Amino acid sequence: MSRQSYNGIIREYKEFLPVDEKTPVITLNEGNTPLIYAGHLSKLAGKNIEVYLKYEGLNPTGSFKDRGMTLAISKACQERATAVICASTGNTSASAAAYAAVAGIKCIVLIPSGAIALGKLSQALIHGARVLAVKGNFDKALDLVKEIAAKYPITLVNSLNPFRIEGQKTASFEICDHLGDAPDFQVMPVGNAGNITAYWKGYKEYKSSGKSSKLPVMLGFQAEGAAPIVRNKPVKNPETIATAIRIGNPASWKSALEARDESRGLIDMVSDAAILRAYKILAEKEGIFAEPASAASIAGLLKLIESGYFKKPLSENKCRIVCILTGHGLKDPERAMKSVKKPKLIKPDLKAILKEIGY
Ligand SMILES: *Cc1c(COP(=O)(O)O)cnc(C)c1O
Repeated sequence: MSRQSYNGIIREYKEFLPVDEKTPVITLNEGNTPLIYAGHLSKLAGKNIEVYLKYEGLNPTGSFKDRGMTLAISKACQERATAVICASTGNTSASAAAYAAVAGIKCIVLIPSGAIALGKLSQALIHGARVLAVKGNFDKALDLVKEIAAKYPITLVNSLNPFRIEGQKTASFEICDHLGDAPDFQVMPVGNAGNITAYWKGYKEYKSSGKSSKLPVMLGFQAEGAAPIVRNKPVKNPETIATAIRIGNPASWKSALEARDESRGLIDMVSDAAILRAYKILAEKEGIFAEPASAASIAGLLKLIESGYFKKPLSENKCRIVCILTGHGLKDPERAMKSVKKPKLIKPDLKAILKEIGY
């Protein structure tokens, strides 16, 4: 397909989505993100294993949330909504604000005060959303928006909105289209668990429609300080530097367990130290700047490689692992700056500079 004829996930995959001729398509041409071969990680994974990175940070607002938001906002418009609301760890609000702006409707956002990355907050604000910082965590903010949406004519666009999941499942279609079939394994971060639900739904639908021949094993990773699914109970005060997955009581908990069990996969956890290590490996060895929550995928992959997980007998063919990089690194520039040495201040002197760079 030529570049010009791509017009976003709704037009691309309409036969798999709950849309008709009457649905207004509110799009920023989201989706169609690259699946990048990861040479360094493939080598670490071992013989006959190929690792690919689905770089969802290249969506219009810098995260996969756009796939769900294009559909949620389009359907809200079809139903003549004039306002949408969400609770957000950041990316949902950035996306909702942008798509509401295109649609010309009001967007209200509740964020946990002090716990969202600067890039994301600046997006929600510049797109004109009404942003309220709640003194409480994400789970509290979600309870509040659910209550508001139930009582007032405002459409909820968190992933409890089924159209969010429907839109997000298109990422699995793209992966199958790109590889010619589903991968053997998919590794991804798990926060509110909407995305693992969406991918699994997408893989199953593609297989039943004959567009792919198999299903991947789903491997989800939470942060150690925010791992309710792994610990099998809600976490009251979730803590992690990966703010996009700082969630103590996931809305799609049950369907995440279904994805795990039906695919014979697992949901495990990684420490913040492991996430930061993966964050740097991704940037330094693969040339990709992803936000910390996305690096949880890579931390999980490394944990599984180190434990020998992929050494179990696989098919004779090459084994393909896809890791989902959910959001762009520029979302959280403060985290990046905390993870590196600051540039050295130097006088504008050729000799001094050459000495510094080793010539
Ligand atoms: C929303 C988000 C997640 C978590 O996705 P869930 O559907 O809540 O599990 C992970 N990474 C990034 C960058 C996100 O924006």
